[in-house]
Amino acid sequence: MIKVSVVGAGGRMGREVCRAVLAEHDLELVAAIDPGFSGRSLGELAGDPRARLMVQSDLGAMAAAGAQVMVDFTQPASAYVDALFALEHSIHAVVGTTGISPGELEELERRAADASSNLLIAPNFAMGAVLMMVFARQAARYFPDCEIIELHHDRKLDAPSGTSLRTAEMIAESRKGGSSGAGEQSSSRGLDVQGIRVHSVRLPGLIAHQEVVFGSAGQALTIRHDSYDRSSFMPGVIYAVRNVGAHAGMTVGLEKWLSL
Ligand code: NAD
Repeated sequence: MIKVSVVGAGGRMGREVCRAVLAEHDLELVAAIDPGFSGRSLGELAGDPRARLMVQSDLGAMAAAGAQVMVDFTQPASAYVDALFALEHSIHAVVGTTGISPGELEELERRAADASSNLLIAPNFAMGAVLMMVFARQAARYFPDCEIIELHHDRKLDAPSGTSLRTAEMIAESRKGGSSGAGEQSSSRGLDVQGIRVHSVRLPGLIAHQEVVFGSAGQALTIRHDSYDRSSFMPGVIYAVRNVGAHAGMTVGLEKWLSL
């Protein structure tokens, strides 16, 4: 049995993760942390009577409960602190929270290199989204000109999305030349991320969607992924919980662990 703690347990993703962990026979949910829902019954919050835990506010509760893996879906400011706490307490960390700053990522990488537990930071756990990013990286070798349109629900805190930033990074690594109007000043042309224009749409009703549009003379190629429901992220989260112990240091992106 792997003992799992969910941080941000009362949030949209956290509740879904709690239900997913409870459904797996080799995983045991030992702590649910979320100061916004402290003292509430997780069973009621997650709508799952198997969850007999009360939500707690302090990260210390997961160490006290003997958690071996922490799953974090919180906010950018707290995910960094939570990941540091996990590494300091020899707890493996699976972080889905997006918007962690580049400086904090560098610090986490340094800490993870010396820690006895491991850290995964994945901007998107949906297998289709992971494939979309990998396919975009492949396509960029032949279509260096592209733009990204990411669409999310209107309560998302960060923009552009972590998925679009990671996609731009992967495309930039693989393409030779090409740009999508980098250096232009017009605000209607999206944000320049490593020479790739990223456009962010926020609307009620959406969950998480992204298109990568490639263009060259006389043709266009569009690679699109849609998460219609947060259940789309759960197989990836569960895979990460089971495998984080096998990958030393810090990993960014679930695709690194898959043979794609
Ligand atoms: P949400 O606002 O519904 O939930 C966040 C929860 O974190 C809240 O319940 C809040 O009370 C709690 N929280 C805030 N500070 C905390 C702290 N210090 N300790 C513990 N809990 C704390 O947000 P959400 O829609 O569930 O999204 C959470 C994060 O996950 C966002 O960054 C989002 O972009 C990201 N996300 C990632 C993926 C992925 O596949 N990687 C998928 C969807 C969302």
